[in-house]
Amino acid sequence: MSRPTSSSRPRTQARAAVVRPFELTVAAVRDLTPNLRRLTLGGTSLRDFATDADGATWDLRIKVLVPSPGHPLPRVAELAAADPSGDGASWYQTWLGLPEGTRGEIRSYTVREARLDEAYPEIDVDFVLHVDADGHSGPAATWAMGVAPGDKALVFGPSAASGECAGIEFAPGLAGHVLLVGDETALPAIGGILRDLPAGMTGQAILEVPGAEDFQDLPTRADVGVTWLARGERTHGELLTEAVRGVVLEPFCAPGPDVPARATAAGEPLDVGPDRELMWDTPQYRRLFGAEPTGAGLGNASGGAEPGPATVRPFYAWIAGESGMVKALRRYLVRDCGINREQVAFMGYWKQGVAQR
Ligand SMILES: Cc1cc2nc3c(=O)[nH]c(=O)nc-3n(C[C@H](O)[C@H](O)[C@H](O)COP(=O)(O)OP(=O)(O)OC[C@H]3O[C@@H](n4cnc5c(N)ncnc54)[C@H](O)[C@@H]3O)c2cc1C
Repeated sequence: MSRPTSSSRPRTQARAAVVRPFELTVAAVRDLTPNLRRLTLGGTSLRDFATDADGATWDLRIKVLVPSPGHPLPRVAELAAADPSGDGASWYQTWLGLPEGTRGEIRSYTVREARLDEAYPEIDVDFVLHVDADGHSGPAATWAMGVAPGDKALVFGPSAASGECAGIEFAPGLAGHVLLVGDETALPAIGGILRDLPAGMTGQAILEVPGAEDFQDLPTRADVGVTWLARGERTHGELLTEAVRGVVLEPFCAPGPDVPARATAAGEPLDVGPDRELMWDTPQYRRLFGAEPTGAGLGNASGGAEPGPATVRPFYAWIAGESGMVKALRRYLVRDCGINREQVAFMGYWKQGVAQR
């Protein structure tokens, strides 16, 4: 597969993109570290799996349909029967109409590697094998713990047939300096972003994982340093939040007493209270789904207007992981530091105590 050149940038044009089911087989299962298991999923249907225009996958997200215990996965033909339009959305509606308890569970994951030009195309997906203090896990992690080569897998991902690719959130625009922050669930995405970043890009990646034995080698051509934090007995996200507060952001910030007022005027909530929803606030999402008018940001580092098309935006931050941690970091970066929301993607990948839906 071709890799991006030094001048390339991810291009996500999800508006017209089509998401479709891919019926796959587990080709290999490998423990990367004690808490992360790689499943290699293969199948000829992946010839229609989309990447960006340069063949890169960055932080490309997919949905994995995990079977209900004791029940087979729904067949694609079964889902397709009620989807004459083939527009993607109907697959999900059809699945929702199947009996709960037998239809399985859908969870979000990241394509860590894609080998789509091989005779037998494959993708790698890295699963965190999470188990809480009471020994409870979730359907996806439990499936990953028990799955074996030869088992069937069903994945919803972007179809190349539409000529577009849905699911890549990393969109630094003209930025030349990046800050990548995440916990172990964001490790596959950060690994993919680092792999696909062009030479010449500078920045920092900060990752918090359960223990030092979960550190990985994350190759990149970019000049981006990687800092690993081993959580140990500390609260989830605590080390990561501290580390981000230690990053020198002055060149990109407009701190000052008026920042909270400017943030509020720009639509940034005063506080982030508890809720069951995952935090998801990215420039891409706002543009696509009109969560607010584009341009309702905080202003750039000089405290002035939104960056216009001709303005170089030097900084882009990508932050993902446990939702409470992501919210805390958003509050710090946007309200305390005065970073423009147009320059940060904040993504809650999961939420403590809440099963994903
Ligand atoms: C865009 C996107 C990409 C993602 N990519 C990946 C990826 O590549 N690899 C990956 O492992 N995860 C990834 N995730 C996170 C993953 O979807 C969640 O962790 C998901 O909740 C796991 O499903 P489950 O069925 O195991 O647990 P659920 O049924 O969703 O949750 C059951 C319980 O487990 C807790 N829980 C869920 N995840 C964790 C965790 N990691 N650590 C501790 N407790 C947890 C929940 O709070 C809940 O109490 C991604 C999420 C998103 C939105």
